[in-house]
Amino acid sequence: MPLATCAGCPLATTGQGFCPDLLRPNSQYVIVGEAPGRNELVEKTPFIGDAGFVLRNWLIKAVPQLQIALEKKRVSFVNILHCLPPMVQGRPYPKGKERLEAEKHCTQYRELGDAPVAILCGESPQRYFFATELEGEDAVDRQLGHDVKGVMGRIGRVYERDGRRWVFAPHPAYILRQPALVQHGQEALKIAVGSDTVVDVAYTKWEDALDSIYPSLH
Ligand code: SF4
Repeated sequence: MPLATCAGCPLATTGQGFCPDLLRPNSQYVIVGEAPGRNELVEKTPFIGDAGFVLRNWLIKAVPQLQIALEKKRVSFVNILHCLPPMVQGRPYPKGKERLEAEKHCTQYRELGDAPVAILCGESPQRYFFATELEGEDAVDRQLGHDVKGVMGRIGRVYERDGRRWVFAPHPAYILRQPALVQHGQEALKIAVGSDTVVDVAYTKWEDALDSIYPSLH
């Protein structure tokens, strides 16, 4: 069990470790992911493993406003789930009723703070916060005989709700598997900051960076 207070959650006996959110005061942006990976469990910090590498080096560096906010420690990082879930159909995230119940139990550990912009990375955070909207959209797509949209069909979508701007982005871990999508990720962040400026960055190759960034983890 990740924590004693997890009792009653469907992942209470199968989830591994615990990674708290990194909520910073006066944040301009809160970046919302799905669940921690193994590196996050070791360091107890969200977005510091593979996905964090892609987010910081391939995406945020290309959007100066976001890079400056990061350097000023005005970006918060949170996850929907706070332990590492077991694999379900090749993905470390629960499905169906188990997903809904785990997400509900895990709200006890999550706050978004008061950042005016929330960047929702991937399917799970998008469906968690906008379940009604996306289920309605799925129903219309099915009715029309269309494929239901996935994350790629919603990149850069913006909702204004509860005094916050919510922006849909692909999850950086997905971009790591499909590097051709890096520009789509940058576009989503550009929309989040309300800017047209996306600068070219010299990408650090993942293989070259492993030893220098996470020597203790390899
Ligand atoms: S999903 Fe959240 S509430 Fe459930 S076991 Fe993991 S950390 Fe605990």
